[in-house]
Amino acid sequence: MKALVFEKSGIDNLKLTEYKTPEINSHDVLIKVKMIGVNPVDYITVNSLSVSPIPHIPGVEFAGIVEKVGEHVNSVSPGDRVTIYGRLFDGNCDMCMIGYETLCRNGGRIGVNTNGGMAEYISVEEKYVFKLPEDYSWELGSSMTVAGLTAYHALKEANLRPGETLVVFGASGNTGQFAVQLGKKFGAKVIAISRKSWLKDFGADLIVNYEEAEEKIRDFTKGKMADVVIDSLGEQFWEKGLSILGVKGRIITFGTLTGSEVKINLSKLYNMHQTILGTNRGNRKDFVELLDLCKDCKLKVWRTFSLEEGKEALNSLQDKNRDGRIMIKIY
Ligand SMILES: [Zn+2]
Repeated sequence: MKALVFEKSGIDNLKLTEYKTPEINSHDVLIKVKMIGVNPVDYITVNSLSVSPIPHIPGVEFAGIVEKVGEHVNSVSPGDRVTIYGRLFDGNCDMCMIGYETLCRNGGRIGVNTNGGMAEYISVEEKYVFKLPEDYSWELGSSMTVAGLTAYHALKEANLRPGETLVVFGASGNTGQFAVQLGKKFGAKVIAISRKSWLKDFGADLIVNYEEAEEKIRDFTKGKMADVVIDSLGEQFWEKGLSILGVKGRIITFGTLTGSEVKINLSKLYNMHQTILGTNRGNRKDFVELLDLCKDCKLKVWRTFSLEEGKEALNSLQDKNRDGRIMIKIY
């Protein structure tokens, strides 16, 4: 099969090459990959060597068609359209026992600690494979694994309630698009910090730019400010995030693209009963709920590349004109 492979870290070492088509064991599913969502995690993976195996195929988010199943597989059959739950878990540790596969003590990630989906085929254990509901496009289906699940799990962990105000930084980004739409499904009023007017079609009640955020949010909430703030970008937005957080507010972080060192005023934090919440992807139960909940979710795709153009696809994550998701389609 053809696959994007690197042997030494660095994006220039990523090459489309022939790779042995994976074998399947009795509990495995062979998936013919149709669509890959290009994720910042992939960029980090290609630039790192703490991955396995080497040579390595990256790709944490993908969807495809079941090609072949092992003899003990019964939840999917050849021809089914599927996506994957991408956190590796053992099912035996204390975190798995309470349904927190995302925190498995022996965990990892498909595409980082195993080969990923930037290939014509991938073999994964049945427990990671989920049938896509009918209405799902390949683009949307492949976005559930990281973008959709991370947003959904974060909102659940923050206990976002109907009528509350949710503010999303990076609202046009991979997770941001889903945070906005899912926030509406939770019954919240959603404010997107962005310059992209298309977020209105995704349900945003208010779109404000970064500079005016504090003032506009104060007006919108009549001084109460935000109940939940999502800052998936890290350091650069942290101070602003705290400045718009109201009493009993929860600020969520699950990404540090702009840095991870921040300051906190503890007296403000306790006087306002605020919570800082870290989350990381999500659990299998969340994934099943999400697949059902997100049937009518939209996805803004900016550019679609072929597998041959893998390097350009990854590099375009840094493009300043980026306006939505970057996909790799296997034709
Ligand atoms: Zn575990």
